[in-house]
Amino acid sequence: MMFVLSSPSGAGKTTLTKKLAANNTNFTISISHTTREPRPNEINGKDYYFINKEEFNSLIKGNHFYEYAKIFDNYYCTLKDPILKFLSLGKDVLFDIDWQGTQQLKKVKNLSIVTFFILPPNIQALKERLLNRHKGQEKLIGKRMNKFNEETSHWNEYNYVFVNDNLDTCYEKILNVIECEKRGEKHYQNRNEIEEKVKKLVE
Ligand code: ADP
Ligand code: 5GP
Repeated sequence: MMFVLSSPSGAGKTTLTKKLAANNTNFTISISHTTREPRPNEINGKDYYFINKEEFNSLIKGNHFYEYAKIFDNYYCTLKDPILKFLSLGKDVLFDIDWQGTQQLKKVKNLSIVTFFILPPNIQALKERLLNRHKGQEKLIGKRMNKFNEETSHWNEYNYVFVNDNLDTCYEKILNVIECEKRGEKHYQNRNEIEEKVKKLVE
């Protein structure tokens, strides 16, 4: 099966995706291609495949992708072949992609996809997380914060929505849903409560 995690930037989806893969041997993470510059701690081929615009354009022209999107002036894409290979090996694949990519992935036929939207507990915590990740880069942080409302407006396109306040608690909730879905069961969530939470966040 395929499990997608999306969120406004800094809410914690990459951390959660990595924790899921680190603790569950059947999960593998889809490694995206991007034209973004690597961050100091990022490794090519592990966090992303870092490519230039020409290489990106040729992947798109060759129709090798499931989805692609332009986000914060950079391009990101998910290639088909590695995903098909993982699925054929019986692996569950985790995706850390945005709402644009999720919309495209959901349109692909014969894929079994469950989607999660991750929210921060509040705006202050989100800002602190971004400050922590991008020390001193106020402009970049501002850009990502400005996108918060737009990104969060897509929460209702997702099967499940969780608040990443305490990392371990949020992780357990996601894992529990994945285990339910793997058994063919749905997990109930009160969408009205989520809507109220979202309203408070975007005020
Ligand atoms: P995203 O992938 O959604 O942009 P990250 O996973 O990179 O976000 O997380 C942003 C920052 O917040 C990272 O420095 C990460 O270590 C931290 N972080 C993630 N989850 C939590 C949490 N529950 N509590 C505190 N810090 C967190
Ligand atoms: P970052 O630059 O912080 O790693 O990621 C920025 C945004 O791009 C995040 O929302 C992340 O989920 C998204 N992203 C990463 N890889 C892909 C991808 O292959 N496709 C799409 N559509 N979004 C991606």
